[in-house]
Amino acid sequence: MLQVIPIKAKSIFSRSRIPSCDFVVNPYVGCEHACLYCYAKFVCKWKNYGSWGSWVEVKENAAELVKGKYVNGTVYMASVSDAYQPIEKELELTRKILENMDKKIRLAILTKSDLVVRDVDIFKKFKSIEVGLTINGFDENVRKVLEPRASDHDKRVNALHELHENRIKNYAFISPFIPELVDLEALIKETRDFVDEYWVEFLNLRAAGEEFRKWLAENHPYSYKALLSKEKMEKLFYEVRTTLKKCGVNVAGIVTHHAGFKIIRS
Ligand code: SF4
Repeated sequence: MLQVIPIKAKSIFSRSRIPSCDFVVNPYVGCEHACLYCYAKFVCKWKNYGSWGSWVEVKENAAELVKGKYVNGTVYMASVSDAYQPIEKELELTRKILENMDKKIRLAILTKSDLVVRDVDIFKKFKSIEVGLTINGFDENVRKVLEPRASDHDKRVNALHELHENRIKNYAFISPFIPELVDLEALIKETRDFVDEYWVEFLNLRAAGEEFRKWLAENHPYSYKALLSKEKMEKLFYEVRTTLKKCGVNVAGIVTHHAGFKIIRS
């Protein structure tokens, strides 16, 4: 059962070190989606509530905190949670934050939930907004292990389609890119008619944590070994870049970790 912890936040726009974004807004800390590879699990060092995915802190005053505030730069939602995780359906905290947010703020949202389309009416009020869905096309048996409570692939793809139909700029964040588990060309073919831009992010094996590494080594040893090999990753990077060029889609960036964090724009 999910442990819900209401908290009062002191501030809501946090300066960000994520490239391409200046501030982050996290309505929640912790994420029910419980992805096995989640890079945000590091927050468990300071939050002694239990395993990742079993608890969520809710910033109950977050909607009040954004009122009347403007920040100059791109604001990203969210970095240590998914703003559209299941509890959002009941609490509507993200929705209230968006309602109160200055619509001149440049906003970027990324989620693994089709609940995001609920807020299309508010997205339309922002002057500059882009909304992304993480997709990877994992086989359903794999997805149930790696992303147990996130929307399934078809729902995420449908959400991208619905955003497009509503003229909201959208992007597909193809992540985590894991050799042999992700078919980049197939994902592009499936979505290219209604996706504005693509990101590809290679899995960060270190940040994904011990439990995930063990699962991958046992279940997909080829993928695991490839991710450990700098040589194979460089080869794969060029293959990904070639595929993106061949498909002729708009590419926002390719994120790699094997030689330190890098965003390559091509
Ligand atoms: S949706 Fe994002 S924040 Fe939530 S568990 Fe998965 S990777 Fe982590």
